[in-house]
Amino acid sequence: MTTPPTSTPPTTTSAASGKSQQHGFATRAIHAGQDPDPATGAVVTPIYQVSTYKQDGVGGLRGGYEYSRSANPTRSALEQCLAALEGGPRGYAFASGLAGQDTVVRSVLRPGDHAVVPSDAYGGTYRYFNQVAKAAGIEHSIAPVADVDAVRAAIRPGMTKVVWVETPTNPLLDIADIAALAEVAHAEGALLVVDNTFATSYLQNPLALGADIVTHSTTKYAGGHSDVVGGAVVVSSQVAVHGFSDLVERIAFHQNAIGGVAGPFDAWLVLRGLKTLALRMEQHCSNAERVVEHLVSHPAVEKVYYPGLEEHPGHAVAAKQMKRFGGMVSMQLKGGERAAAEVCGATRVWTLAESLGGIESLIEHPARMTHASVAGTPLEVPRNLVRLSVGIEDVDDLIDDLDAALTTHG
Ligand code: PLP
Repeated sequence: MTTPPTSTPPTTTSAASGKSQQHGFATRAIHAGQDPDPATGAVVTPIYQVSTYKQDGVGGLRGGYEYSRSANPTRSALEQCLAALEGGPRGYAFASGLAGQDTVVRSVLRPGDHAVVPSDAYGGTYRYFNQVAKAAGIEHSIAPVADVDAVRAAIRPGMTKVVWVETPTNPLLDIADIAALAEVAHAEGALLVVDNTFATSYLQNPLALGADIVTHSTTKYAGGHSDVVGGAVVVSSQVAVHGFSDLVERIAFHQNAIGGVAGPFDAWLVLRGLKTLALRMEQHCSNAERVVEHLVSHPAVEKVYYPGLEEHPGHAVAAKQMKRFGGMVSMQLKGGERAAAEVCGATRVWTLAESLGGIESLIEHPARMTHASVAGTPLEVPRNLVRLSVGIEDVDDLIDDLDAALTTHG
């Protein structure tokens, strides 16, 4: 049985999870928070599909469980696993990536505060800051995360409490220097929040590089099978910013008080996905490298965005802070928006769909799909952009299919 959240960071209670920080990534992904069920010996964490728990006399909680918005054993297992993979004292699982982001914002920002947000980011993240946080009195400025000086210049001394970055960014795959931005943010009394969805905790650990909070859409690589929507937040054990030393408790409080938590079955699906994250990411990266190799010399392609390319402006930083360069690739087509839309609709192995990070390859047109909500804003994306989420199918099939679509419609 896993321990529920408490007001202090839970120390792992099980043999496997207790030793987890000394184990390698794949061992932690399979065991952290997931000891066999003490009641039955079930090797896999059960789905505790339950809302409430019998009390042995008023206040006599068994294992600390009271009500499943506050804590549920399946979710606790996932939260311990997430914390072990990101190297933080405490993880939190949410109903979606945006629910996690909202909880972070409400935990650390107040009306009158200011945030720096990326000039390239998931459209929904920008929409949140521009339409939801703003309506609550939280201002923001936009800065390119790849330019440390520009981020520094966007900070409003005394008002900026959060520097929010994605790296790699969605969909242009810019790279933020996490260690450098942590210094910049901390020098101004701001927290550095890193959305680690694209890189995953297998390829990149922002907390070890100085970030204070990591967020994920676990809908993507963490779940990995396009069958669940979820979010994760992990905080650092070394929050250096004055006034934020209680971050672990603040986020725990807001997670329960707002209530956007992951349900037991969704938590279980993400937990199962995480077990194969290391294997999947290696294959996503290998396939993406081969696809990129093909695209850079394709006559229909104007530009390829992939941090593994030496000519990518963030290549050196990515090589320093990521294990490999990930499974996301974007490209601009010479044939303009028409070609981009037609290519997206012409592939047979690649599926035309939003989202990313699943085992199956997806293709999409950001300007009209994932990033339609930022049309007309500073985050608007090129109309001839195509985004690829490279899956783990046989890579020759992926290349042949893409090549045929590009040759006919590019
Ligand atoms: N962050 C990134 C980088 C994303 O790509 C997404 C969704 O596409 C989100 C956050 C939001 O996650 P969710 O859709 O799970 O709310």
